[in-house]
Amino acid sequence: MSPAHAARTGAGGDGDDAIVVGAGPNGLAAAVVLARAGLRVTVLERDDRIGGGARTEELTLPGFRHDICSAVHPMGAVSGFFRRFQLDRRIRMITPDISYAHPLDGGRAGIAHRSLAETAAGLGPDGPAFARLVGGLVRNDDALAEFSLSSLLQIPRHPATMVRFGLAMLDQGLPWWNARWRGEEAPAMLAGVMAHAIRPMPSPSASAAGLALAVHAHARGWPVPEGGSQSIVDAMAADIVAHGGTIETGIEVSSLDEVAGARVSVFDVSARAMADIGGERLPSGYAMRLRRFRYGNAASKVDFALSQPVPWTNEAVRRSPTVHLGGTRAEVARAENDVAAGRHARDPFVLVVQQGAVDPSRAPAGKAALWAYTHVPAGSTIDQTEVITAAIERYAPGFRDTILASTSRTATDLEFHNPNYVGGDIATGAPSVVQLAARPIVSTDPWRTPVPGVYLGSASTPPGPSVHGLGGAYAARSALRHEFGLDLPDLSIDGHPDPSPHRHTTAQR
Ligand SMILES: Cc1cc2nc3c(=O)[nH]c(=O)nc-3n(C[C@H](O)[C@H](O)[C@H](O)COP(=O)(O)OP(=O)(O)OC[C@H]3O[C@@H](n4cnc5c(N)ncnc54)[C@H](O)[C@@H]3O)c2cc1C
Repeated sequence: MSPAHAARTGAGGDGDDAIVVGAGPNGLAAAVVLARAGLRVTVLERDDRIGGGARTEELTLPGFRHDICSAVHPMGAVSGFFRRFQLDRRIRMITPDISYAHPLDGGRAGIAHRSLAETAAGLGPDGPAFARLVGGLVRNDDALAEFSLSSLLQIPRHPATMVRFGLAMLDQGLPWWNARWRGEEAPAMLAGVMAHAIRPMPSPSASAAGLALAVHAHARGWPVPEGGSQSIVDAMAADIVAHGGTIETGIEVSSLDEVAGARVSVFDVSARAMADIGGERLPSGYAMRLRRFRYGNAASKVDFALSQPVPWTNEAVRRSPTVHLGGTRAEVARAENDVAAGRHARDPFVLVVQQGAVDPSRAPAGKAALWAYTHVPAGSTIDQTEVITAAIERYAPGFRDTILASTSRTATDLEFHNPNYVGGDIATGAPSVVQLAARPIVSTDPWRTPVPGVYLGSASTPPGPSVHGLGGAYAARSALRHEFGLDLPDLSIDGHPDPSPHRHTTAQR
């Protein structure tokens, strides 16, 4: 226990109504909801800075602002919590014309424009099939977001969209996944979005994650926050403080005794950490389920400071903040299946984000900050700088000569900096089909633990990983209902909820 923490508990728990442990997007979302409901809230964060997986720092050289974890926010754009919180009125979210690009050899590329029609037009013989696969879902994106971003055990309010999504998921998640394609671009593009799940391919879980991302690409888009992901959590922190809350950093909570002074506690920690923190206080059956929760394979990240933007051979790829590398669908699947089998892939899938394509604030004029990670087996200690550099060189010859500096975080480093990323698993629990339903337990209220007043609200709970704040917001909603008999409060800036579609800034070409 840290001296700061000893001093804190020595004060007898301070009489807080609620303590939130962990200042990641979910913890902060929980604190926003609780503070807005009029409770006295304190957030305790082990790191010396708030934000968890949504922090931005000058990791390489002065003036180069790097997102340490999350960079692009399709799930933030469809999050019901951020809509109620009116995030897009608090910070500038820049929605690019191109959501993601997938270069192939010979200067070719699959380009996911915001416009589905424009995307399909660039996919040659596969354009109509691509439009048929995602088009109906794009038109019903709100319904898709609503059911995919809640507990899967809720009664579906949009059964038709659910069925349509289920059929598309099976079409692209089972061994016949290539049946509808004739060219290389469209299936490669879908393989690229599926690879975000870090799951075997083809598989229903990779297909579900990839299709949701592919649909959002043409509906609300894949925005990047001006200045970095830190601006998202800073906006939440400002709201907590404005509503009387307190945020303390440098305090790691390791036992329920340390939050006993509060009527309610919400934990933004992994399921495994919840089992450790709950210790003997947790009923053995619940503790066993938390310990059986499985973690997935990992990411290994490299940030670069560049003398100029990446010289992609394909001109459209230069305009896309998000770029998927790994080649054809067969190549991407081979690489992901290597990782699923516990091996480092020879030519792995690499996810690149060049925020400077739409946000010049990330680097000094003319230069560029580049974010990239690749997938590796859980617990890997191998630096991927050379592997990622080679992967970029394949589609951007001369890239190597633009590197001014770089810094790397292996899978083990990720866990060292944030224990929620067990073994480097950036999803805080494998997003398998089973664990999307049992996250971490099968329940209509999986955020409520059996210990009175104790809630779990991290990415180990529904709706799972990504920066959407919903795990924390749902945990807080459950706590308000059960412990205080309160409803979800208004989260808007000025008491005038604006349910209209997002007013994101669209980047100009
Ligand atoms: C490399 C990488 C890239 C990613 N890219 C994206 C992306 O582009 N888009 C996207 O949407 N998502 C992305 N993600 C995933 C996203 O960052 C996470 O899903 C999200 O941050 C989860 O939010 P959270 O609040 O549950 O947990 P976290 O953000 O992990 O925050 C948990 C917080 O709790 C603190 N904490 C943990 N234990 C304790 C304790 N015992 N006491 C006190 N404090 C504690 C931690 O220090 C941390 O600050 C990425 C993640 C990584 C690592």
